[in-house]
Amino acid sequence: MNGFPGTSGLIFDELLLWEKGAKGRRGMSLPPRDVDLTSPDQALVGELPDLPDLSEMDVVRHYTRLSQWNFGVDQGMYPLGSCTMKYNPKTNEKQAGLQGFAAAHPLLPDSLSQGAFKLIHDLERFLAEITCMDAVSLQPAAGAQGELTGMLIIYAYHKSRNSKRTKIIVPDTAHGTNPASAALCGFQPVNVKSGEKGILTPEVIAQVMDESVAGIMVTNPNTLGLFEEHIIEISEIVHEKGGLVYCDGANMNAIMGIADSAKMGIDIQHLNLHKTFSTPHGSGGPGSGPVCVRKHLEPFLPVPRIAFEEGVYRLSEDFPQSIGKLHAFYGNYGVLVKAYSYVLSMGPLLQRASQLAVLNANYIKELLKDVFHLAYDRPCMHECVFTDKEQHEQKISTFEIAKRLMDYGFHPPTIYFPLVVSGAIMIEPTETESKETLDSFVQAMKSIAQEAKDHPELLREAPTKTKVKRMDETAAARHPCLTG
Ligand SMILES: *Cc1c(COP(=O)(O)O)cnc(C)c1O
Repeated sequence: MNGFPGTSGLIFDELLLWEKGAKGRRGMSLPPRDVDLTSPDQALVGELPDLPDLSEMDVVRHYTRLSQWNFGVDQGMYPLGSCTMKYNPKTNEKQAGLQGFAAAHPLLPDSLSQGAFKLIHDLERFLAEITCMDAVSLQPAAGAQGELTGMLIIYAYHKSRNSKRTKIIVPDTAHGTNPASAALCGFQPVNVKSGEKGILTPEVIAQVMDESVAGIMVTNPNTLGLFEEHIIEISEIVHEKGGLVYCDGANMNAIMGIADSAKMGIDIQHLNLHKTFSTPHGSGGPGSGPVCVRKHLEPFLPVPRIAFEEGVYRLSEDFPQSIGKLHAFYGNYGVLVKAYSYVLSMGPLLQRASQLAVLNANYIKELLKDVFHLAYDRPCMHECVFTDKEQHEQKISTFEIAKRLMDYGFHPPTIYFPLVVSGAIMIEPTETESKETLDSFVQAMKSIAQEAKDHPELLREAPTKTKVKRMDETAAARHPCLTG
């Protein structure tokens, strides 16, 4: 296994803080107390908590060691399909940490918030230009909340036209949040199957589209990493019957500044700033899921909205058809600063980033398709989906392949998603990995495929080098033990 980044050396066991330290050990020396302990304050404080006595070094080593059990994109390749775990340049963090942004109070008067408002205004313009849409709200805090915003807008649009529509078409390749968002808004999700090529066919949409359907949610590129080639025709079918087209744009990393959403017939689209626009993510946030709309849906966007008149920025609530407020103040502002910094530092190179993300995924797809079964053998976008079909004979599954990858020093890809592919192994390398890293990853995957034939027990026992081996995942989900 030489030449791979995995190692098991110098990763420490670590006790709970309560099991460490010694009575009387301290993190700092304070002068002796010169006040009586039985002051009235004591009654207010009550029993002191039973905290362990630790030195500064005990504490520093404890948390540093725990942090080393974790894995992040700053350590290595993180090819988690659908999540766009790319390297996020540190300059974007630095800008978000500037005191003028990080310490600005959201209730400051407008006159003292002009810089913060300008950033919101300009980022809205950038995202509108990148997607070719007309107006943007930066309020939603995540992709799923962007979807909910979109559904509320679709509802408000139909209501304004006295049209009562109850259904939303959702393809089988959609992220689970899509039908959930539609249902949360009171719509009935109507599931449609994608065709043989892994994309939607206009015929299937035409069959379910009628005047009871409020719209369709299409993910493009879809969760199989394939571009919905018939999107224009599909949009026409939906529009003809008075419906709206919602695009889940979480996979924007493949098409930044390249695909024109307006020309594709999209009325409304969300983006995931924490995937595409440089906010480190995983384990729950903070995120941002801006919603971009065409002109006819602008009146329904959440309030407040940024207005710019006579050289002054201000917040305006004066949109009577608005769906209202989705988030306190202006959304997750720190994430917006990072996206703004990212867009400005990349400029037209955003297109290049998307091209490289697509190239890298196709590179991996071509090099691995002889050893792993490819779900759809055709050019992909930013991610490719394999299965464990070739390994069935050895009774090796996707789960074991993923576990074994950790021994080689790679974070496993997304597994068993999308649900339409049995035993899916979904790889998204992103544009930020070098050719050396991609080659090393490919070598590791090939080596695992060979091991599956010659030494399947190695996969059944994997991972062997990690701090924590196999977990009882059901118990971990059902009975989480959060105290250690
Ligand atoms: C990640 C993702 C979402 C959900 O985004 P969150 O920010 O996690 O709520 C929705 N759709 C697709 C296609 C995604 O990849």
